[in-house]
Amino acid sequence: MSRKARKSYRISEDTHNIFIKQAGNILSGDPMSVCCGDYRISLDRKDKLANINFISHAHSDHTSSVNTKSKFISSAATANLINARKSIMINYTENIPGMKLLNAGHILGSKQLYLDHEALGRTITYSGDYQMQPSYVAEPIELKETDCLIIDSTYPNPDVVFDEKSEVTYTIQKYSNDKLDRGIVLFQTYSLGKAQEIIKILNESGIIPITTEKISQLNEVHKDHGVKLEYVTDSKESAQLTELLRSNFVYICEHARFDEYKMKLSSTYGRRVFTAVATGFAQTVRFNTDVQFGLSDHADFKQAKEYIDACSPKIIYTYGGNSRIFAENLKKAGYNARPYSDEINSNIPNLEYLAKLQ
Ligand SMILES: [Zn+2]
Repeated sequence: MSRKARKSYRISEDTHNIFIKQAGNILSGDPMSVCCGDYRISLDRKDKLANINFISHAHSDHTSSVNTKSKFISSAATANLINARKSIMINYTENIPGMKLLNAGHILGSKQLYLDHEALGRTITYSGDYQMQPSYVAEPIELKETDCLIIDSTYPNPDVVFDEKSEVTYTIQKYSNDKLDRGIVLFQTYSLGKAQEIIKILNESGIIPITTEKISQLNEVHKDHGVKLEYVTDSKESAQLTELLRSNFVYICEHARFDEYKMKLSSTYGRRVFTAVATGFAQTVRFNTDVQFGLSDHADFKQAKEYIDACSPKIIYTYGGNSRIFAENLKKAGYNARPYSDEINSNIPNLEYLAKLQ
């Protein structure tokens, strides 16, 4: 059905949609949801009124809606990663008519939600976490034109600019190889996504790192989904582990266990422990490590503009903790952007606004 033929908006009599009828909106506020025909779809948040929950990816700040009873729309990789982290296998589907999952390029299994449901009369895209730079563990982002873009605000300021991933990769490889001549290298990192990117980066320079049990479990899911990773887990004895521990090695642990591992490695092996962190926040925060690498799986402001230009939306809603400043900066750059929360709390019906758009 063509867009022009779908101008009239239809609200289902489904009791789940009473809220929308009252508000006259297709976007609902807290929690963040989109109402679409017979569906109320929560977007990475817990929403008791939702009859389906979209989970963009398996990072814990996006999986608060997870339970065994509800219905989910997500990728298979996301469902498997959630199972590995929380021991819950969600009841999920990747296919609902009018809803499409598009690669987000953030971590394994990460998706944007693209809504082209006839009940909307317009297309809506929810970005989730995304990046425009290539990832070592995720499929490249898919870009599709949309009428309304609901976009993540993690890095809202133009003055935060990430280096090219190839440059960061080279720096991590050089640092690790140089320091291995003199001691142990310990990376602290997020267990999901960043840990696997670091493993890939190290593998490409001939290093096989040791990883903690938690990271190793998530590595296995990556391997199940075709991501080649070479690592040795510290959770069970093996000839490979014994061999690695004989000389200097690279260890990767999650942030929460960094102090524990730093101390343990130093006291057990009596060697210098060089410490490192790799995260986009290295651009804005000082960490308690010897070095910090700006390796991000998010978009910076420049990438956000590239993403928006490719999606060509008529209206942009920013969401997240930095939504206000992000919307302001986008407006300054000439985009029609506003914080999602403002729109929801105002009396302007989104529906009318969207209906005016051609
Ligand atoms: Zn994320």
